[in-house]
Amino acid sequence: MLKGKKALVTGSSRGIGKAIVEVYLKNGCEVWGLCSKPSANKDALESLAKENGVAFHEIYADVGNAEQVTEVVKAALAEAGGFDVLVNNAGITRDGLSFRMKKEDWDDVLRINLTSVFLISQIVSNDMIRKRAGSIINMSSIVGIHGNGGQVNYSASKGGVIAYSKSLAAEVGARGVRVNAIAPGFIETDMTNVLKDEVKAAMAEKIPLKRAGKPEDIANAALFLGSDLSTYVTGQVIGVDGGMGC
Ligand code: NAP
Repeated sequence: MLKGKKALVTGSSRGIGKAIVEVYLKNGCEVWGLCSKPSANKDALESLAKENGVAFHEIYADVGNAEQVTEVVKAALAEAGGFDVLVNNAGITRDGLSFRMKKEDWDDVLRINLTSVFLISQIVSNDMIRKRAGSIINMSSIVGIHGNGGQVNYSASKGGVIAYSKSLAAEVGARGVRVNAIAPGFIETDMTNVLKDEVKAAMAEKIPLKRAGKPEDIANAALFLGSDLSTYVTGQVIGVDGGMGC
């Protein structure tokens, strides 16, 4: 479904980002995966790429460091000769109640989850605009729509991702570039593994489809949005949450 396309996926080392890289490689896409440090999955992803007749390039930057991420993304863009798909997926949590949250935890989450989306999209979309084609996919969250006590920083960053995506979609649609957000619900990754088993079971029980999501559930939505199956879809937030948001 992505044959001949080139994608940049951030947060590619683990969880949802890794699942997106896998499904993109399996569908014939050459992928540049950005993470903060060499990942344990690099060799396996390179082998998967080879099996599918494409290449996987792992690149490194702290997306919260503006100078560093700008330099690395510009270099990857030059190496690729442009990206057809950009997936802004890297993200962190620094949970805590608002009244005692340190400013540093607010700033880190906003910088890594939201400011990086602006910086990376600016570099990549300028090139997409010149080519009059491209799909940008930004990872939001169900809590960016509904909010969540104990996550004011994270919810604000993910709500910001939605507003940013809709605004950018309005700016660049006439130039052939699409921008959408995915709002995952409760997905089994390192990010949610920190929760106690009882908490995870209670959350799964509240989900209409009665299970936590898998990274592959999100990757399939990213496959749709990155492919030509979604050429009339822009400015949308696709909830992939087992019905949590209904
Ligand atoms: P994860 O397993 O914790 O993986 C996070 C990824 O982001 C890793 O690849 C990590 O790279 C990368 N990353 C984090 N900080 C970075 C930084 N400063 N610079 C570069 N890379 C950085 O998380 P996940 O659950 O897959 O989540 C992926 C996205 O989905 C996030 O945006 C998250 O907010 C969103 N989301 C997740 C859930 C869920 O239930 N899991 C729900 C809603 C939304 P390293 O390995 O190099 O650190």
